[in-house]
Amino acid sequence: MSERRKAAAVDVLVIGGGVNGCGIARDAAGRGYSVMLCEMNDLASGTSSAATKLVHGGLRYLEHFQFRLVAESLAEREVLWALAPHIIRPLRFVLPHHKGLRPAFVLRTGLLMYDTLGGRKLLPPTRTLDLTTDEAGRPLKDGFRLGFEYSDCWVDDARLVALTARDAADRGADIRVRTQVLSARRDGGHWHVVIENQDSGERSTITARLLVNAAGPWVDTVITEALGQSGAHNVRLVKGSHIVVRRLYEHDRCYIFQNEDGRIVFAIPYEQDFTLIGTTDLDYHEAPEKAAITPAESEYLCAAASEYFRRPVTTDDIVWSYSGVRPLFDDGASAAQEATRDYVIRAEGDKVAGVLVNVFGGKLTTHRRLAEEVVDRIAETLGRKGARWTRDAPLPGGDCPATAFEALVEKHVRAHAGLAPTLVQRLTRLYGTKVPELLGEARSAAELGAHFGADLYAREVDYLMAHEWARGADDVLWRRTKLGLRVTAEDKARLAAYMDTHLRQGGGPRA
Ligand code: FAD
Repeated sequence: MSERRKAAAVDVLVIGGGVNGCGIARDAAGRGYSVMLCEMNDLASGTSSAATKLVHGGLRYLEHFQFRLVAESLAEREVLWALAPHIIRPLRFVLPHHKGLRPAFVLRTGLLMYDTLGGRKLLPPTRTLDLTTDEAGRPLKDGFRLGFEYSDCWVDDARLVALTARDAADRGADIRVRTQVLSARRDGGHWHVVIENQDSGERSTITARLLVNAAGPWVDTVITEALGQSGAHNVRLVKGSHIVVRRLYEHDRCYIFQNEDGRIVFAIPYEQDFTLIGTTDLDYHEAPEKAAITPAESEYLCAAASEYFRRPVTTDDIVWSYSGVRPLFDDGASAAQEATRDYVIRAEGDKVAGVLVNVFGGKLTTHRRLAEEVVDRIAETLGRKGARWTRDAPLPGGDCPATAFEALVEKHVRAHAGLAPTLVQRLTRLYGTKVPELLGEARSAAELGAHFGADLYAREVDYLMAHEWARGADDVLWRRTKLGLRVTAEDKARLAAYMDTHLRQGGGPRA
């Protein structure tokens, strides 16, 4: 164990390794504070890997008059795309007009606002589509003749978290996965935080000048159980589920379908061979880690897609599904879909007592802005060290102009001509400019080590264990990559055994 990992006193201790906790840790470390982040499971194992994966303004939020949120989110699209062009890319959305639902002039007005509210420079504007002639009309039923097409972005949500954590560590943050915060008590202006390593059961106490609670759907549990404040009720838990089916259509655009209940459902090209359909919005009262799709939700999503697609989607088509819990700030809205998606930051205590910052709500899209605000609050308490900096600082592997990303993919394919182009393309979309570091001198698949099914080799697994805190097969198959869609149970068992042996021999993260 290195000297730094023994450090028992930090300026800031962040609870939660989702997008918000990692964003805060990164920003704070970059401004010069000593930071520790504790995540009780894997990075992004909570809500941050269960999203629809859009960096978007949220067209629907205009109907709820959330103009501040929409404007901030729209502006973040091109900012985040520029910081991570390997894991974020522009996506065009096709919105068919449905007779009997929102009239065409309402759709046109909403999209006009959407186009003008945010700082759009590179993303193309809205256009009207004739679905009787446009390719986007082909998979749809004949009745859909008019459509609109607009821009947002797609993001690999779990990788956004892992790369943000990597950058935080590169700037000095101590990232601890499989580490639960059990309790935190104030004493003499400091927090004494008891943490437990979930693998070894070992407990230790960390002293922190300031505590950030970014535990997502567990935020109230942390307040009640770890901080000992009874009766916390700040967030409304709203479950959302997605289904994945075999690819439903050939083109690369996404559909946004209006549903009769006033909600919308997306159908998005996913991992080359699949289509992702989601989401639902259901009030949820169980433990967040138990969230799972119900048969009724699967049927709802199939019916919503079948209302539009020529070929009906049935539950037999589902190859995978996932559910997540939105930790929405409880603004008292009556329907789950109407509860605000905006974030709320609440600080309590003072320098003498010890400061706690609670984070409620927030989206993947706004995590960087949320982190800036939280770290501004940290600076008010601990003293200002550095200015805001994350707007122009690429994430690991993202130091390539967004518009030159396809050229980077081709360059890597040419440089590794002995490897399958599909493998090099996949790696470049996950690791960007880090691909030469990952592949090293390997010129053929045989030089990549043990094979674990699909195009997963030991070389990539070793990289993920060394640099991205991967500890178990699911971390690799479902969060750092989505190869879980393609490998067998035997492949997974061999991968788990390989990782276990490697980690027992001390091959863990180089923090
Ligand atoms: P989480 O990701 O849940 O992270 C909190 C972490 O805290 C967890 O990993 C948990 O293990 C850890 N933790 C809890 N207690 C402790 C403890 N005691 N000690 C240590 N660790 C602890 N946003 C978008 O911008 N675009 C979208 O398209 C989008 N789609 C969505 C679709 C769905 C269905 C859902 C549910 C959300 C969607 N969101 C979207 C919202 C977005 O995913 C979330 O707002 C965001 O991921 C929340 O991140 P977080 O870091 O606050 O929470």
